[in-house]
Amino acid sequence: MAQNGTPKTALVVFAHPDDADFSCAGTVAKWASEGCEVYYALTTSGDKGSHDPEMTSDRIAEIREGEQRAAANVLGVKECVFLRHEDGFVEDTVELRAEIVKLIRRFKPETVITWDPYRRSHNHRDHRITGQVTIDAVYPLSRSHLYFPEHLEEGLEPFGCNEMLLIGSDQANYKVDISAFLEQKMEAAWCHTSQMRGRPREEFEKQWRDRARQMSGGRGMAESFRRVSFRRDGRGQQNQSQPWWRVDKALWNKRQ
Ligand SMILES: [Zn+2]
Repeated sequence: MAQNGTPKTALVVFAHPDDADFSCAGTVAKWASEGCEVYYALTTSGDKGSHDPEMTSDRIAEIREGEQRAAANVLGVKECVFLRHEDGFVEDTVELRAEIVKLIRRFKPETVITWDPYRRSHNHRDHRITGQVTIDAVYPLSRSHLYFPEHLEEGLEPFGCNEMLLIGSDQANYKVDISAFLEQKMEAAWCHTSQMRGRPREEFEKQWRDRARQMSGGRGMAESFRRVSFRRDGRGQQNQSQPWWRVDKALWNKRQ
């Protein structure tokens, strides 16, 4: 960890362009400003995200990838990886698990941010499945050389992440103060022009401010997550005498 719990490297895995910028862009901007290398990976390029009868899937996907790159630039994200599965049809396959494991082994993120697949209320199936596959990739798949051993031939070693932050959770237990980064978040979110349906910017900004205020519990502006951390011993391996994960409820009230 660098300062204030900021990881040195983070991987944000989500389903569609705009998911991350609407949900955790303040945290991303904050971490990037503190020297964290942040990488985005998208399972789809949002190729169903238009109500214009003249629009095609290929065209909207291209537009949305451009919007995502622009938003990532605003935040200081190092790279966006587009896995280009079909919007609305993300499946929990061995192939997708291998793709995410490969990204974890390539970028070596201390922290992975993804969708919480366990939310009880309505959730988009791409969010649910992207979150589940990413959790499985973090633990156990990326940690042992015996999973996807072909990655070793490409020089990609097994890697164990320290923690996951799950977005969109109904059991949030961790928050990040984004008071100084809300403007940057809104700037990034506004890059997703194709998704704004002609509504005025002020309307969105009010929603984003209200949401950040609500997540902070009335103390500034925040983004909230469900945090799952992994206990590791000095060799960087899982400590078998401890439960493999724990949820830090106490962190809910601790401002970052
Ligand atoms: Zn989405």
